[in-house]
Amino acid sequence: MQMKNDIIQETNVEVAPRKNFIREIIEDDLKTNKYGGRVHTRFPPEPNGYLHIGHAKSICLNFGVARDYNGKCNLRFDDTNPTKEEQEYVESIKEDVKWLGYDWEEREFYASDYFEKLYEFAVQLIKKGKAFVCDLSGDQVRQYRGTLTEPGKNSPYRDRTVEENLDLFERMRKGEFPDGSKTLRAKIDMAAPNINMRDPVMYRILRATHHRTGDKWCIYPTYDWAHGQSDSIENITHSLCTLEFVDHRPLYDWYLEQLGVYRSQQIEFAKLNLTYTVLSKRNLLQLVEEGSVSGWNDPRMPTISGLRRRGYTPESIRLFADRIGIARSESTAEVTQLEDCLREDLNRRALRAMAVLRPVKVVIENYPDDQVEELEAVNNPEDASMGSRKVPFSKVLYIEQDDFREVPPKKYWRLFPGNEVRLRYAYIIKCESVVKNSKGEISEIRCTYDPATKSGSSESQRKVKSTIHWVSAKHAVDTEVRLYDRLFTEEFPAGENWRQYLNRNSLEVLKNCKLEPSLSKAKPGDKYQFERMGYFCADEDSKPNALIFNRAVTLRDTWAKIEKK
Ligand code: ATP
Ligand code: MG
Repeated sequence: MQMKNDIIQETNVEVAPRKNFIREIIEDDLKTNKYGGRVHTRFPPEPNGYLHIGHAKSICLNFGVARDYNGKCNLRFDDTNPTKEEQEYVESIKEDVKWLGYDWEEREFYASDYFEKLYEFAVQLIKKGKAFVCDLSGDQVRQYRGTLTEPGKNSPYRDRTVEENLDLFERMRKGEFPDGSKTLRAKIDMAAPNINMRDPVMYRILRATHHRTGDKWCIYPTYDWAHGQSDSIENITHSLCTLEFVDHRPLYDWYLEQLGVYRSQQIEFAKLNLTYTVLSKRNLLQLVEEGSVSGWNDPRMPTISGLRRRGYTPESIRLFADRIGIARSESTAEVTQLEDCLREDLNRRALRAMAVLRPVKVVIENYPDDQVEELEAVNNPEDASMGSRKVPFSKVLYIEQDDFREVPPKKYWRLFPGNEVRLRYAYIIKCESVVKNSKGEISEIRCTYDPATKSGSSESQRKVKSTIHWVSAKHAVDTEVRLYDRLFTEEFPAGENWRQYLNRNSLEVLKNCKLEPSLSKAKPGDKYQFERMGYFCADEDSKPNALIFNRAVTLRDTWAKIEKK
């Protein structure tokens, strides 16, 4: 897949990053020299799925503050769960972070690199009498845990001696016990109001092949046991995470205090929620596995790879991340905000082109049979430096079916019998008659043109109420076009039956679209504005003789603009 789009020029949509409470904390810490002037963050994905737009928020935050405060940001894979993690996900995550424009340099880390260290830390806690091997089953652990209103009960194995715990823990590692038969648990307080502090599990026995450590381990640390220590090992200053970890912070702090090691400062911010989609890897995986979408990078998916394939630019996603901001309380962003960021970016940078998606033939009766004129068309009205191109005009053209009505409704100013419209960059034409096939469908619209109305000429002053786009039939390049709608019909597709809100009409494939010839060489990833139709991106499967374009986003106010001209 081609990632760099050479048609797109330098961006200018980005502005200075907005202040937020995390940046304020960091600036204060720099003033007080809290970490010796260091700013060191990390982005810690679990490689159990592809990254989505919510992760982009976290990436932009972590890498953004590192960049702006002369700091560093690590990429750390939190790979503590071998049953759900895969190398494919690691690769996709790296590709996506890079594509978003961020660089972790040589700091690509894995929690699994710390398995030995974490094991030693666990032994330290056992020696301090702060951890014990427990024989309760998973279900029993849950029963003993209590509830928000009731305290838990101590495990009957809680008072094992240090020697016994050391011996059992070592034998857990050696594989002497079956999966799930024992755990290592922290010894904290079964009556703690915070349930995370009720003797949480640190290790479980699990014979599963890990994507990096293979079969070396049959005990795996829990996320909670690995996370804070990983931050500490990497000397992270500000450990930025989402709000669901507020209640885990006391536990992370407890572990680090017991171990007497460096402590990072955890700061929580609100997750991104977005309308008309789901943002949980579990749900996204389900859509992929059930075939509701074509894969993780289906252009309807909120994944970074899906957005990229759809036609989103890294600049538009970074702009979105900056606009939605960082806050301490939950909120939901509208998907239209995301779309607006792409429009804004592509409006300034994408080449314009003419494409007819649902063609109907127009024959200009008084135009010479074999004549071809090369007409001048501007590449981007927002940016004169992008120049212009030639578009061929001839006797037989295609226009959109929608731009013609045999019987026009009220206020319809486009083409109908007896009416005139301007063809963009060309002439004013008038509809003289209609030819129908045996089924009564319109096969041809017969028109005449007014040679005195050529665009750009001194006599082109005559005004008509609308301007439509067109493509010369004999020069047209065929393409397939994929039009997308929201993946869900509900703003918040939640609950057990969230899949019932899948939009069955979220993809429309048009096979017979006509492009102006300059697009014949479009490469995967190239982006254009098809005049009046929206912004489109050549799909990764697009080939020179089998072009495929995805509509990234529609234009706003198209008709209002065009009809006034
Ligand atoms: P999911 O809920 O999709 O499974 P996750 O939180 O389990 O996501 P991780 O791989 O653990 O996925 O996430 C990596 C980082 O991205 C974490 O620091 C997490 O807080 C952050 N993150 C995940 N989802 C969002 C979101 N919607 N908005 C902002 N940050 C997010
Ligand atoms: Mg997570």
